Amino acid sequence: MCGIIGYIGPRNASEIVVEGLKRLEYRGYDSFGFAVKTDKDITVLRRVGKIGQVTVQELGLPASGLAFGHTRWATHGGVTEANTHPHNSQDKKIIVVHNGIIENFQAQRTFLESQGMIFYSQTDTEIIPKTIEYHMRKGYDFIEACKRSLKHLEGQYAIVAMHEGENKLVAIRKEAPLVIGVGDAEFFVASDVPAFLDYTKKVIFLAELDMAILDGKEISIFNLKENSFVHRPIDSIDWDAEQAKKGNFEHFFMKEVTEQAQVIERACSINSEIIKDVAEEIKKASRVYISAVGTASYACMHATYIFAKIAKLQTTFYLAHEFLNFKNFLTPNDLIIVVSQSGESADTLGAIRAAKIAGAKVISIVNTMGSSVMRESDKSILQRAGPEICVISTKAYTSQLAILTLLAYELAGKYDEGREKLRDLVRHIYYLTSDSVRKFLQRIAENLRYAEHVYLIGRGLQYPTALEAALKIKEMSYIHAEAYAGGELKHGSIAMIEHGTPCIVFTSNETEKETLSNAMELKARGGYITGVGPNNNPVFDAWIKVREAEEANSICQIIPIQILAYQLAILRGCDPDKPRNLAKSVTVK
Ligand code: GLU
Repeated sequence: MCGIIGYIGPRNASEIVVEGLKRLEYRGYDSFGFAVKTDKDITVLRRVGKIGQVTVQELGLPASGLAFGHTRWATHGGVTEANTHPHNSQDKKIIVVHNGIIENFQAQRTFLESQGMIFYSQTDTEIIPKTIEYHMRKGYDFIEACKRSLKHLEGQYAIVAMHEGENKLVAIRKEAPLVIGVGDAEFFVASDVPAFLDYTKKVIFLAELDMAILDGKEISIFNLKENSFVHRPIDSIDWDAEQAKKGNFEHFFMKEVTEQAQVIERACSINSEIIKDVAEEIKKASRVYISAVGTASYACMHATYIFAKIAKLQTTFYLAHEFLNFKNFLTPNDLIIVVSQSGESADTLGAIRAAKIAGAKVISIVNTMGSSVMRESDKSILQRAGPEICVISTKAYTSQLAILTLLAYELAGKYDEGREKLRDLVRHIYYLTSDSVRKFLQRIAENLRYAEHVYLIGRGLQYPTALEAALKIKEMSYIHAEAYAGGELKHGSIAMIEHGTPCIVFTSNETEKETLSNAMELKARGGYITGVGPNNNPVFDAWIKVREAEEANSICQIIPIQILAYQLAILRGCDPDKPRNLAKSVTVK
């Protein structure tokens, strides 16, 4: 949600921020903008829409060693050029980009207006440069004015600021991601690592309320909570630049779908001691909660089933933003498992913080090293799925399912058995993402392309799969898709089925009998039935064969639906990588 990239150093900063911003577009694509500082002045450029393939030359940005860019996912104020970042102070000397929400912006704006400041946008962001200017007018220098300004800002923010008179970038974070890339006499600052992976893998993860001051040669970090300068270690990231590029694929979506066999292999090669260690913590807890949002929440739902089935462990699932309603029950003997691709979701962080206040233990499964979720957890399992650039989650989801499966088997004292089961799937996953399966699914998509509604059902482990499959179809093709537990439809929503209504039915050897009865009920009302599972059946009008994989069915069965959703997006003219209204890594509540 909103991407920031900044650079200071000997290279052409304009080139770096324009190319870097293209890598961050998954975080928001309502509008984009740049600020480039030269010896003469600061050039500011704002444009509505996606950045696409535009070049520095086309944008007419000057060559310089200091610049930043921003891609916006609007929260306050419409999608207009005036609301596009960067925003500036009244005297136009202070330029700021911001990710997050300033909750008290209205009161602060009223105060600044009373001081004679004139606002040109509806954003919450514009109060930031103007508050800094307010303090500079009182005689403080730029850095001191930035520090003092933060006392006036409530909410979540990652801010990068520059001043016309200083060869410096100031980067501040509170509950929103910001990472520093460390090069040779050069620094990058970005919302996420892929923005600068071409140049360096050395990173500094800023902590809460860190304010980094970057000049071309060195970095100093002042922590506003501790009110002193602090040292932060330099880490090395194990992603490589190619992983964050499309390669021969037209869209990141399909690239990431096709990577899933390797992702499962990588999950299986996670150091088993890490999984064992986490399992020991889980065994010690009196109650275990499991929580996430979006796609990761379906991985959590799936986990409640496999923990019960394989490890005979009872766990309670809550959506992270609903978890707070139940925090009164938390005790220091409890434990919460949270799952997050980005590790920056504000809702998930809210659940973690509530658990910590109650003294409960926090375990996370997370794909992004150094993320807030990882740092705020007692223990973490790093997914190692590689950067997931497409807004729609695919490989991060199946990797989460695999890791949760390994954890369930470890809890049952059968880790090796679980790992073998997953390894055994890898070849089948290569097949499911092969050209021939893709072509077959294209034909199925042709049948569904004009559908207004799709209903999906599954029982047991196939229920969370149906929920995730419905989400994929909605996000990708904007077809209304709704999932139900197989037994539930007849209790009301079957009223929606009429002649030709597309229905997708997930089966497995264990649930086949009852699920097929539910499919018959749909068929009797005119439903057009597509089966997904190990066995064909006369009730199916179409059948997507996915071999039986017991507890790992969820990993295999979602893959053809991801591809189907992709084909639907293409047929319906939707952008598979940048669906409307969405942004990855939802850092606001
Ligand atoms: N709240 C700011 C805005 O609406 C920043 C949003 C973002 O994080 O992209 O402009």
